[in-house]
Amino acid sequence: MRQKVRRILLYVSLFLFPITMNFLSPYVSVDGAFAGVLSGSAIMFGVLFLSGLFFGRAWCGWVCPAGGLAEIGQTVTARPVNAKRLRIVRYSIFAVWFGVLVTGFVLAGGIRGIDPLRMTERYISVDEPVKYIVYYFVLGIFFVLDLALGRRGACHAICWMSPFLSAGMLAGRLLHLPQMRIKARAERCIDCKKCNNKCPMSIDVNAAVKTGSVKSYDCILCGECVDVCPKDVLSYRKPK
Ligand code: SF4
Ligand code: SF4
Ligand code: SF4
Repeated sequence: MRQKVRRILLYVSLFLFPITMNFLSPYVSVDGAFAGVLSGSAIMFGVLFLSGLFFGRAWCGWVCPAGGLAEIGQTVTARPVNAKRLRIVRYSIFAVWFGVLVTGFVLAGGIRGIDPLRMTERYISVDEPVKYIVYYFVLGIFFVLDLALGRRGACHAICWMSPFLSAGMLAGRLLHLPQMRIKARAERCIDCKKCNNKCPMSIDVNAAVKTGSVKSYDCILCGECVDVCPKDVLSYRKPK
């Protein structure tokens, strides 16, 4: 039941992507930065950081439109990815993009205004035919990478949003904030590795179980491992 609800939420989010695209866009935030304007997407990246403080990467598992696309991709191929190697690629891309964003604000003399609807004046991101080119291009890149690289390949390889979530997770841990996590009762585990086979982020959940919880910054709190485990080893630790 939980996985059905989760997938429905992701598919609804994917369906709404023509409306929300600009609020997650790396281009719109950079365009705003060079004008000294905090755009809707730049604000959204800040919100993702804040959500990471308490909810880790739950956004990825339950809300993100690209997550809906990844779920479709997983019906075609569900092979695990080499997360370590792809992390280098992702953070390299992120460093360049974030550098450009900061440079934009510096050259513009800092943040001189806020415009949540920058480039989205009619409240809908894809509001004219030409913007469908961008829309399909983004969807196409994500879907091809999901198919070519394996489970949630695009999330591992190119996502510019996940570093904000991971930074929020890190800050939350350093500040000892109550943070949602998957905890484990290791003594019950029979090493069947069903959790590993099911994890959409290719995490070695079986190994994490031995440490008492899943601490990986890749964990998207989807609960697939919780629901597949035959021995009830895993459960959510909710923030208190
Ligand atoms: S990693 Fe990025 S693209 Fe993938 S679900 Fe998370 S925010 Fe969305
Ligand atoms: S599915 Fe459960 S019992 Fe099997 S390896 Fe994972 S945690 Fe252990
Ligand atoms: S460890 Fe469990 S909750 Fe985390 S991503 Fe993997 S399956 Fe989902």
